[in-house]
Amino acid sequence: MLMGLPGAGKGTQAEKIVDQYNIPHISTGDIFRAAMKNNTPMGLEAKSYINKGELVPDEVTNGIVKERLAKDDVDNGYMLDGFPRNMAQAEALDQFGAELGKPLNCVINIHVDPESLMERLTGRYICRNCGATYHKIFNPTKVEGTCDRCGQHEFYQREDDKPETVKNRLEVNIKMNTPLLDFYKKQGILHEVDGNQDIDKVFADIKAVLDQIN
Ligand code: ADP
Ligand code: ADP
Ligand code: ZN
Repeated sequence: MLMGLPGAGKGTQAEKIVDQYNIPHISTGDIFRAAMKNNTPMGLEAKSYINKGELVPDEVTNGIVKERLAKDDVDNGYMLDGFPRNMAQAEALDQFGAELGKPLNCVINIHVDPESLMERLTGRYICRNCGATYHKIFNPTKVEGTCDRCGQHEFYQREDDKPETVKNRLEVNIKMNTPLLDFYKKQGILHEVDGNQDIDKVFADIKAVLDQIN
């Protein structure tokens, strides 16, 4: 599971991890965004919370992840991104992970000093077709206006990446992350990675952790 404040580089590193280890990337944010785009009942419910900047209720979120972990394609491993986000979710995951025989065995916390996060989030842009993440200054596409990953040309900025909302998101996340970090530290599965480095260096550090546990 990848942890880190908004902008720490979870999405960026997730892309590299799934390419390297060939495991499914389970991002609750992506699942909700897809459901909202397709106007499914779950998407409509999620939308009413997400648009207010609130978390989707735990019953909904836990149910989605449990269903996803029950599928065969995660038998050889999975990577969680954006879940669990609070203690109730962490406890639910401990339970259904064990029931399904697919317990969480590694948590990587990407640490970045909060001052840099504002700059990262406000410069972030995302491919509308495949979800690949870029940054105006730190990580632009190789060819201007063309996604490195899928070759499409449409990008967007997230509504919640505006400077006004970023500050509040950071505060809320710092509060929620602290007990989770303690919880996984006690379980002995927490690994800290320095996220204030080049994208490739961060990935090398993550890879060193993952190669050890595999
Ligand atoms: P953020 O960086 O804002 O946390 P995400 O893409 O991870 O972005 O999630 C977008 C939104 O989806 C969140 O603001 C929240 O409303 C909802 N969401 C994602 N994951 C969870 C979760 N584990 N529990 C509750 N709500 C979630
Ligand atoms: P998260 O998923 O944790 O919110 P992202 O992976 O979307 O974070 O990264 C946030 C922004 O910062 C993106 O624009 C991304 O291109 C950029 N970024 C990611 N990792 C780094 C890094 N190590 N150095 C500089 N910029 C980065
Ligand atoms: Zn793309």
